Amino acid sequence: MEAIANFIDGRMSPPLNGRYLDNYCPRDGKAYSRLPDSTAEDVEAAVKAAARAFCSWKNLKRQERAAILLRLAALIEERSEAFAEAESRDQGKPIELARMVDIPRAIENFRFFAGAILHQEEAAFQTSPEIINYTMRQPLGVAGLISPWNLPLYLLTWKIAPALATGNTVVAKPSELTPMTAFMLAELFNSAGIPPGVCNIVFGRGETAGDALVAHPLVPLISFTGGTDTAARIGKRAAPFYKKLSFELGGKNPGLIFADCDLEAALRGSLRSSFLNQGEICLCTSRLLVEESLLPRFSEAFVAAAQNLKVGDPQKSATFMGPLVSQEHLEKVEGYISRATADGQGKLLTGGKRLSLEGELEGGYYFQPTVLLVSDQSAEIIQEEVFGPVVTVSSFRTYEEAIQLANQTRYGLATSIWTQNINTAHRAARDIEAAQVWVNTWMNRDLRVPFGGMKASGIGREGGRHSIEFYTEEKNICLQI
Ligand code: NDP
Repeated sequence: MEAIANFIDGRMSPPLNGRYLDNYCPRDGKAYSRLPDSTAEDVEAAVKAAARAFCSWKNLKRQERAAILLRLAALIEERSEAFAEAESRDQGKPIELARMVDIPRAIENFRFFAGAILHQEEAAFQTSPEIINYTMRQPLGVAGLISPWNLPLYLLTWKIAPALATGNTVVAKPSELTPMTAFMLAELFNSAGIPPGVCNIVFGRGETAGDALVAHPLVPLISFTGGTDTAARIGKRAAPFYKKLSFELGGKNPGLIFADCDLEAALRGSLRSSFLNQGEICLCTSRLLVEESLLPRFSEAFVAAAQNLKVGDPQKSATFMGPLVSQEHLEKVEGYISRATADGQGKLLTGGKRLSLEGELEGGYYFQPTVLLVSDQSAEIIQEEVFGPVVTVSSFRTYEEAIQLANQTRYGLATSIWTQNINTAHRAARDIEAAQVWVNTWMNRDLRVPFGGMKASGIGREGGRHSIEFYTEEKNICLQI
């Protein structure tokens, strides 16, 4: 079985304690590779290498750093199909989604920040003829980057690209569930011309390798994407060091369907937003709030469409939904459904069961697209993030009630509003407590806009100049002539 290695100081490095974890393929539930079960010792080696490399990397001309990132983007692009296959095998992602979204977006992340860094501006203020104030942005040092399993390469590169472009060096810890594309990326660093120590990747578990990175005194900033409860632990561990933090966290995203919507578009959009990548995208819709007069028509058509989604082999182009990421996650999703239906809080409209597929797919973690009708807004299934192919449907009578329901969870990540009335669209966009609002669409992104969450969905914003600001510290210098 292939064993992947950490990438430290420009070299593939086996874990210092010699221990490995099995890496399972969600498609058939079989272990197919091994990854380092790294400890604080490996993290220490990576952080020291990154700290040594910092001075010369930050002093490289930004054009030279940009050129290296562009070379890395080109190398990924040449191997797009291999990356898409690996992402699909590791995560259970339908391969077409990896081809169309994840891999192009990872390439784009490097190209975008290679360009953005060339256009960074600093300010000068002439206070009087003799006094000038000017500002200067500088990288912070070793950036600790912790990424989740649902969009493994896309989210990892969303952090690595701005961190390197701004002159920081990096120690990254990808999710232990999906290490393969991060390893393939590390294999390209030397050919792209990234100097040894500038970008290090340490594989392993969150509570060991991740924790050691968060608590390392030589790592002044942590960019974390993952669960809200994990972020609370990271925040506590980082607090004594006054680290700069960016948290992109969970969501319980509402989709608001007003009776005056374009029904076809709302159905198509909500189906995609609820079940794309098996519902394992932080931006997925997990609560559909439908105006009462439209509820019967909407639910009937939505359920029929959910039943028609093709669930199966993630390596086949025609598959819309692959398996969930792990056995543990499958059981977690099942647990939410059985509690919601057992205590009468939710009425199952379709799905709710795991799927046992045969042949090569036997043993895979497949789950049916699931729709539940729920009225009690305090129900666990309404309040907690399930992060699977599960969406609830509830109804509202008035605009005020729609907003109240939309805002009634601790999360504030994203929402989609479906209406043909521009006033309703504007009012709802203003009133909903979500940092990302889509009107009559979903998951369209411009990399320049601020991205992050409100409430328990995160702190800090990344994206465009917001990333450049996060990965740098601004100084004010005052000069008298
Ligand atoms: P987790 O919070 O479990 O893990 C995220 C990362 O943190 C993993 O690399 C994990 O390692 C690591 N980790 C776990 N515990 C610690 C710790 N104590 N110290 C340091 N690192 C730790 O999230 P998931 O991987 O399960 O991802 C799903 C979550 O991510 C969902 O809540 C989802 O909404 C959210 N998410 C948010 C996004 C956003 O942009 N807002 C985008 C994508 C996902 P390991 O896996 O090895 O344990």
